[in-house]
Amino acid sequence: MIIDTHSHVYLDVFKDDLAEVVERAKSCDVRKVLLPNIDEASIEPMLGLCKDYPDFFYSMIGLHPCDVNDDYEEVLARMKALIPIVKPVGIGETGIDLHWKQDNLEIQKKSFIEQINWAKEFNLPLIIHARESFKEIFECLDEHDSPELRGVFHCFTGSENEIRKIASYHNFYFGIGGTSTYKKNQDGSIQKIPVDKLVVETDAPFLSPVPNRGKRNEPAFIEHTVEFISKSLGMTFDETAALTTENAKRLFKID
Ligand SMILES: [Zn+2]
Repeated sequence: MIIDTHSHVYLDVFKDDLAEVVERAKSCDVRKVLLPNIDEASIEPMLGLCKDYPDFFYSMIGLHPCDVNDDYEEVLARMKALIPIVKPVGIGETGIDLHWKQDNLEIQKKSFIEQINWAKEFNLPLIIHARESFKEIFECLDEHDSPELRGVFHCFTGSENEIRKIASYHNFYFGIGGTSTYKKNQDGSIQKIPVDKLVVETDAPFLSPVPNRGKRNEPAFIEHTVEFISKSLGMTFDETAALTTENAKRLFKID
């Protein structure tokens, strides 16, 4: 059994063949798919999927760093009010993205810190999107990490130094996705990640793993990432699936 811990299958690009996407995932032993939302507009389609496929799709609530705009405070207030109603399995995705936008770092940070506080308040894992922003994210976590905070650096590729820094926080996991299979990232750093902190994800429809790079990503493709991790760690496919599934269940408190 495999859990895809990060997938945006509620996006429009899946609307014509969603049933087949779900079937293909199940035939690859993907039994659960966790859905981080992006903005307010993505909440309704996400909740629709969770209703149509109970115990398969699971929701999360958060504001993506690329969608932090001047009205972010009102948006966050409305999202926060939904948490007790929706009962998401995580907060996110949040974080900081300095690839697409650099001029609003201050409000990206404020939005991120607000969502760190939700994770603590509601005892939910925090889903962190870090793009060209490890330094800024580490500054926020240095100040706000605490024993009751847990979370995941989604779509993680990073150096040994970054792995060591993340592992030094109380309870942070590493979400390994398609980008780990790209040549430029095959630097052996995956072997430095504590094995009890590895979880797998697709980030569908983005960032398909090799050999599907460039195509629309979907949960079934996660098998290529599991295969890649297996080879990197000298484990069997089934051992890697079992390990990452146990880790995901512990992080998200699902079974
Ligand atoms: Zn994402």
